[in-house]
Order: sequence, then structure tokens, then C-alpha cells
Amino acid sequence: MRRETGHGDLHPPEAFLGVCARLEEAGFQAWAVGGAIRDALMGRDRADWDLATDARPPQVRGLFPRTVPLGVEHGTVGVIAVDGRMYEVTTFRRDVETDGRHAVVAFADSVDEDLARRDFTINAIAWRPGTDELRDPFGGRDALRAGRLQAVGEAGDRFAEDYLRVLRGLRFAGRLALEIEPATRAALEEAVPGLDRLSAERVREEIAKSLGGPGAGDILRLYAEAGALRHWLPELDDAMREDPRAAESVAAVDEIPPHRGLLRLVRWLLALPRGSAPEGEAADGAPVEAILRRLKFANAEIRTVRRLWEAYLPFLHPADSDARLREWLSEVGREHARDVFRLHFALARARAARESERALLHTWRRVHAELVGGAPVSLSDLAVNGGDLLELGLPAGPLVGLMLEELHARVLEDPSSNDRETLLAEARELIEIGALDGLEEE
Ligand code: ATP
Ligand code: MG
Repeated sequence: MRRETGHGDLHPPEAFLGVCARLEEAGFQAWAVGGAIRDALMGRDRADWDLATDARPPQVRGLFPRTVPLGVEHGTVGVIAVDGRMYEVTTFRRDVETDGRHAVVAFADSVDEDLARRDFTINAIAWRPGTDELRDPFGGRDALRAGRLQAVGEAGDRFAEDYLRVLRGLRFAGRLALEIEPATRAALEEAVPGLDRLSAERVREEIAKSLGGPGAGDILRLYAEAGALRHWLPELDDAMREDPRAAESVAAVDEIPPHRGLLRLVRWLLALPRGSAPEGEAADGAPVEAILRRLKFANAEIRTVRRLWEAYLPFLHPADSDARLREWLSEVGREHARDVFRLHFALARARAARESERALLHTWRRVHAELVGGAPVSLSDLAVNGGDLLELGLPAGPLVGLMLEELHARVLEDPSSNDRETLLAEARELIEIGALDGLEEE
């Protein structure tokens, strides 16, 4: 076989090379594999370099002082290197049995066998720093140069072995701006119905990966084009097909920083129709919640996403009064205000709407001033509490809450009235004139 050398320009981290050297000194092969090689060949730096070896997990663990058993049954050991980072060291594997959702694997003897079980040719390249040998049995580098995404081997078989590869393929194509080679494309689209056999967790993780990196908007468009949303996200599938405004929501995803994956998800979900909500009124986020439950998101994430989605509209107008700004803050909540603005900014930027961006900035400055000025935007900011009202002789029960809300409305109107004496006097007055009588029955 042809030995290829001269790949010293791949620039792995020194500590990673140290891990390789230790394995090689002990008589094993150490190959850099997967995404790191692919990205390095494209000139993109990244921190997580993975390693494949013929050493078995116990042998790997015996060679390094600090290891983590990441999945010893799958052959993966985490090695903490001298830079304090963990590198994944996985024993060569081959698939023994596959069913479209997971594989039974066995250890293999050669790196070529290990490469043959990988999904796309660009992901099936290995480099051995110890000998500077590059293994590229499926022409992954040519594919990279040509900007082509192609399955390893028979595309239809590869997708049927693991349907997650449908979504992975669309992610690589979108992120790396690759054309999907025609036979791979046809097989991918044919494999789309198999997505329903995947677990919600794997699908959710894959979508999170797509949203959490470059090219997210392109990936989402590729999802829709390939019909890949039909099973898990039919609501978004319909919206992206039928509603021309959905395209703007998708474009706006890229205007939110990649590390804000959940906020990007909200931006995408804003492509959904707003149900029967009249123009300018709040829409019910129940459909959003249903989607996230289906994908088994954590409860806290579901709450945040639904809350932001619902808080998006109605929104502020530059001509709104300070009192209206504070009222809005109290409705949306101090902790969400900034993110709701981010969602609006992202859309304005995606539309290249300079005017609305300027107006947004102006309004945000005013909202921000209220926030840092300590505007009493939540009930707990009130200078009086329920106990104070009971002492005034208000009966325990719903009237206490109503009175607090009444006082809060007043304080939002005029923050200078937020002192104990003023509010107690106000409360006495309201009790006196019977302002709340009968309200508790409503
Ligand atoms: P990134 O980390 O940038 O998302 P990656 O290529 O490193 O991309 P991983 O999911 O981390 O992707 O997987 C590492 C490597 O393992 C891949 O490059 C590929 O060779 C192989 N691989 C991962 N998942 C699969 C799969 N479902 N089927 C086949 N090979 C896979
Ligand atoms: Mg990876």
C-alpha cells in the first residue's frame, strides 16, 4: 500500500502528540481520526482530537496516570493529558450487527477496518503522527477538496445501519458547505422515514449540535429540503414549507451566537404560526412545549424556551413611555428581557433592517437603564409584603395578592412611590374606599 507522508502541517495540540508518543513507545499504533483530521485538512483549528489505537482499554489505562472510563465496553478511554484536557482514545472497532439505531461492535486489528465503519469519506481519514502516515482509503481528501459529502461504501446500506447519519450528513453538508454527492443524496432522502426509529435523545443531541455551531441556518434549510423534519418536527416542516416569513426566522438563527444554542432554538421555533392569537397579542406556547417534550428536553429548558417564545410578542415600541417599559419588564421578567431583545435584534440583522436595529438599540438602552437603575419590576421588589397587609387588617386570602398587584401597578407607574409609608397609606386608602370589594369573586 502507498505510504503517504509529509502532513506535519496538521498542527495537533502538543499534549495530544504526547499521548500518541506514549502509546507508540509501548508498541501500539496511535492514529488521529475523525472530525479533527477533517477540520485540520480544511485549515480549521479545533481542540478535541480523537485517537484510535490497537491497544485495548486496560492497556490504555495502564499507560497513563489519569484516565476516565468513558465507555470501556465501546473501547473508549478518556486520557487526561499534560495540558489538563481529556482526549478520547478508542480501540479499533468494527460493526458486528446494526439495526438502524445502534451497533454491536467488536474490537478490530487494523485502522482500515476502523475507518470502514465510519459514516462519510471526509470522516474516514486517519493520520499517524509517529510515522507521519496518512490513511485515506475512501478518498476523503479528494472529497474535501471537491467540496463533496459522500457516504463510505454503499450509501443506502450506511444510512440503514444508523439512521442518525441522515441528520449528521445534513449537518456536515450545511456546516462545511459541501455538496451532497448524488447517490448519497438519493439514499439519504430515501432513508428519511427511518428517522422515526431513532431515540428522542439522539435526535435532540444532533439538533443541538447543528444549532450550536457555524452554518446552523443552512443546516435547518437542508433539513427542510430533505424532508428530515417530517417525523420529529412536523410543525416546523409545515411552517418552513408554507410560511414565507419562516425563512427570516431561520436566517435570524445565525445572528445569535452559537454558544446560545437554546436561544437559537427559540429563534427557529418563532417560525411557527402563532395560532389564533390576534395581531399584537401574546400567543399560547403550548405547541412549543409539545415539540420540546417530544424531543425529551429537560423541564428547565422547556420552561425557558416556552417563556421566551411567549414573551417575544407583544413587544415594545420606541414611543412607549417609561412606565410602559417597566410594565413590559414586569411581564417578561428581568431574567428574560435581554434575551427577548436578542431575538428581535437577530431578526432585524437578518433582514438588514438598519432602521429597526437603531430603534431597537434606542429602546434597549432605556430598558437597560431601568434594569440597572433597580426599577421595581417584580412583586418582590415592592417595599411592602403580604405580612404588612395582614397587619393592616386585610383578611388572609386572595385579596392580599390583589392588593399587592394593585400597589405594584402604581409603583411601575411611579417608582418613587415605592416606600413603605407611601404604600401602606395607599393600601389603607384602597381598603377604606372598598376598592377591592367583590374583586375576589371575579
Ligand atoms: P464534530 O465533533 O465536529 O461534530 P465529528 O466528525 O468529530 O464532528 P463525532 O460525532 O464527534 O463527529 O464523531 C467522531 C467520528 O466518529 C466521526 O468523524 C466519524 O468518523 C465517526 N462517527 C461518529 N458517529 C458516527 C455514526 N453515527 N456513524 C458512523 N461513524 C460515526
Ligand atoms: Mg467530535
